Amino acid sequence: MSDINAIRSAIRDVPDFPTPGVLFKDITPVLADPAHFHTTIRLLAEKIAGTGVTHIAGIEARGFILAAPVAALLGLGFIPIRKKGKLPWKTMSAEYALEYGEATVEIHEDAIRPGEKVAIIDDVLATGGTAAAAVKLLRLCEAEVALAAFLMELTFLDGRKNLPGTRIESLISY
Ligand code: AMP
Repeated sequence: MSDINAIRSAIRDVPDFPTPGVLFKDITPVLADPAHFHTTIRLLAEKIAGTGVTHIAGIEARGFILAAPVAALLGLGFIPIRKKGKLPWKTMSAEYALEYGEATVEIHEDAIRPGEKVAIIDDVLATGGTAAAAVKLLRLCEAEVALAAFLMELTFLDGRKNLPGTRIESLISY
């Protein structure tokens, strides 16, 4: 058995990665522990069960690790949101700001049908730029974003302000 406090303790803080001043939240010890991994997936699934979503969108790359098992557990479809140039079919793109410079994420234009309900999953909500780009892509597809769920939220970065109108759920807050 595992619980959210044990998962919180298992997350490893790595100072100055990938750049000086960033405290990186490393989830690999959580993923490597069968009980922690299973509990993480179960708790994320509980946030999404009953919302009426038909699909879970995962954000490359760590978002995939959490989103795909949640989708399978709930019997939902999985949609990859990937970095520019990785998806083989026709795509739509959204740019977003990083600490330095910009990045682009993409979705297949037929990933979800207009009016379908989707939940987004990623490991960390930091500034919210990545999740906001994911919301933008799904809205370009005319899907309804019911919520965005995260293993953890860095509240001091106030990522929620970049996600107006989107319900946010996180299992752990810092
Ligand atoms: P942001 O767009 O600033 O909300 O950043 C979110 C994305 O960057 C997520 O996909 C995270 O995986 C990653 N990320 C941002 N900050 C951290 C951090 N301190 N530790 C681990 N991952 C992070």
